[in-house]
Amino acid sequence: MPIIDLRSDTVTQPTPGMREAMQAAELGDDVYGEDPTVNRLEHYLAAELGFEAALFVPTGTMSNLLGLMAHCARGDEYIVGQQAHTYKYEGGGAAVLGSIQPQPIEGEADGSLDLDKIEAAIKQDDFHFARTRLLALENTMQGKVLPQAYLQAARELTTRRGLALHLDGARLYNAAVKLGVPARQITQYFDSVSVCLSKGLGAPVGSVLCGSAELIGRARRLRKMVGGGMRQAGMLAAAGLYALEHQVQRLADDHANAERLAAGLRELGYAVEPVQTNMVYVAVGEQAGALQAFCAARGIKLSAAPRLRMVTHLDIAAADIEQVIAAFAAFRVS
Ligand SMILES: *Cc1c(COP(=O)(O)O)cnc(C)c1O
Repeated sequence: MPIIDLRSDTVTQPTPGMREAMQAAELGDDVYGEDPTVNRLEHYLAAELGFEAALFVPTGTMSNLLGLMAHCARGDEYIVGQQAHTYKYEGGGAAVLGSIQPQPIEGEADGSLDLDKIEAAIKQDDFHFARTRLLALENTMQGKVLPQAYLQAARELTTRRGLALHLDGARLYNAAVKLGVPARQITQYFDSVSVCLSKGLGAPVGSVLCGSAELIGRARRLRKMVGGGMRQAGMLAAAGLYALEHQVQRLADDHANAERLAAGLRELGYAVEPVQTNMVYVAVGEQAGALQAFCAARGIKLSAAPRLRMVTHLDIAAADIEQVIAAFAAFRVS
């Protein structure tokens, strides 16, 4: 039975074209800076997103960690959303490994952080306080695209208050495709950006941190320190390059599939949150466990949560969506 896995967009398999690109990749030792494919990926993304430099790393968690640590010293503070990946889902790495104090702020319904709340959280220059150095945003945030005008206002605020601005752009390209703009129109507002290649883009491994040459130089040292220096990493970078060259525009298909899934479930009477990109959130309440088991028996993998998240991706076809809707319909009457 073919499996329809909606738990995350991380579950994709490399496409045949991607596997060929990996097989054919020219390799060298990247810790010596000699892997031509890694260098090509780093140059490609830095240029595309409008930065001086970039750094290939194994995971988005490491990419964010290096970004935060490159901006902030021990005893500094960063402002971040209460539900942000960097704060909530990365093992507290910035605090544990960087001695960076997080200042979390409750997020708004549209995925943004209120600028007045941010401004109120910035600490005065006083030896009682940690030094507020950085604001970290996430885009997309739980599938929501931050408005461009908001990013511009956040940039103005951080510049005025002397803070750096980091973007966890794990799903940057979902936001760009949704807005119909080149990704650099989003990244232009930021001092550093982390992009995941292993989410909707479909690479098996890898993230890239972009920033100034100086920032990326610091991040490169930190990458070695946390054990992220890889050798013939070009096989992995080749997958990322292939994804960036061939699998960006198709994210629109994922968005259309998510839209169709949401519409189908609404017709069945489920409470589905508005969909912007590739994530569908549906209220299933205490039936979460039963629904998961019911769907598992029909080859559909779901998470089990009262606010159930379903994510569309490269390995989900339009026909799969109809099957999922049919399973939910059967569950309703079961
Ligand atoms: C997946 C993800 C990351 C990084 O995750 P890794 O699994 O470490 O690659 C960072 N931020 C967001 C928003 C993510 O969804």
